[in-house]
Amino acid sequence: MSGPILLPGSTGSNGGQQTTLGVMGGGQLGRMFVQAAQSMGYFTVVLDPDVISPAGLVSHYHIQTDYLDQQGLAQLMQRCAAVTTEFENVPAGALVTLGDARPTAPSADAVAIAQDRIKEKAHLARSGVPVAPYAVIENAKQLAAVTDDLLPGILKTARLGYDGKGQVRVSTRAELAAAWDSLKSVPCVLEKMLPLAAECSVIVARGWNGDCVHFAPQLNLHRQGILAVTQAYEGNMPLALAQQAVEATKKIADDLHYVGVLCVEFFVLTEGSPEREALGALVVNEMAPRPHNSGHYTLDACDLSQFELQVRTLTGLPLVQPRQHSAAVMLNLLGDLWVDGATPCWDQVLALPGVHLHLYGKLSANKGRKMGHLTVTAATADEANATALAAARVLGIEAF
Ligand code: ATP
Ligand code: MG
Repeated sequence: MSGPILLPGSTGSNGGQQTTLGVMGGGQLGRMFVQAAQSMGYFTVVLDPDVISPAGLVSHYHIQTDYLDQQGLAQLMQRCAAVTTEFENVPAGALVTLGDARPTAPSADAVAIAQDRIKEKAHLARSGVPVAPYAVIENAKQLAAVTDDLLPGILKTARLGYDGKGQVRVSTRAELAAAWDSLKSVPCVLEKMLPLAAECSVIVARGWNGDCVHFAPQLNLHRQGILAVTQAYEGNMPLALAQQAVEATKKIADDLHYVGVLCVEFFVLTEGSPEREALGALVVNEMAPRPHNSGHYTLDACDLSQFELQVRTLTGLPLVQPRQHSAAVMLNLLGDLWVDGATPCWDQVLALPGVHLHLYGKLSANKGRKMGHLTVTAATADEANATALAAARVLGIEAF
């Protein structure tokens, strides 16, 4: 596939048009994309209905309409030279409209697969790494046909889930039936609950010409279905598994003819468990057609961040293999930290060495809401972990 080369800055003499990049969605991922694009000299335009969205607040232009609003989409196309997306729940139809008029990466096709767990599983299964055993439940007949070996399991809505939302853990058939009912009987997948020794993710960036670069796998700790801690340094997981995860991720990106930044999440199964005997050590969980929370450390610990790579993939600029220069531990900062509306003790945290604070400009700190993150960089993994634990202690985040 060929794409454009969109150089940053003014495209005409006398300060004519500025090359402007568009992003669908105004959350924190859009904000960090906008910031990366702007630091390279691009203008940016965000489409998001929220008047105070994190990305809208820092973008040159903010179109405040629904994602499917024809006028909003027309304005976006008029303003920008190319469009990307910052979350997978942007209606694929909007990306089809945009893709007809402007280079759009990732493509509507790739996003349509990633936003539907049923389609996604079928694709992931071709990566050479197994997926968790699962059954599709779209009707009562399929519910009745579920086999007992999938229990206990997790019932997940096929669409619109994130941060563990739209998921119910079930142990019995009665619980399964009640859970499907509670999810309004929308299309779901039931996944067998697997014994996890660890979770990791791999982020790759693939260009229009098929060039693909990657970050080394990150080790991720989730709490209540939400990412809590990412550890990124050499030795965070066995080398053979890390290589397998990188290869699988590149294959998934190639098979999708993917353009942009792609993250694939993996489970590492517990040694000695029957599931590991049956499936192998590594199981692919899901993919995100965008930069990922587990890659935020790349802003501070690598010579190229996942957001710079998103800009480069979109604009057809060269993709260079990123180099991590520091060990890193990232802590997510959830709304829970704003106890009774009080601001967390950022001054105490910033007194620690190698702490980088990122807040997303969100005004209300609800429980479980991602308000920001903190990356600790250090010369060694031990130092990064020790400092991150000290920061967690100050903030009242559970130790890891
Ligand atoms: P994200 O915010 O990453 O998009 P999500 O809502 O799509 O999350 P999943 O990644 O499917 O959710 O699951 C969230 C977490 O729940 C996983 O990271 C893992 O900790 C746990 N989990 C999900 N599926 C399984 C499984 N089959 N067996 C064991 N644990 C699981
Ligand atoms: Mg996930």
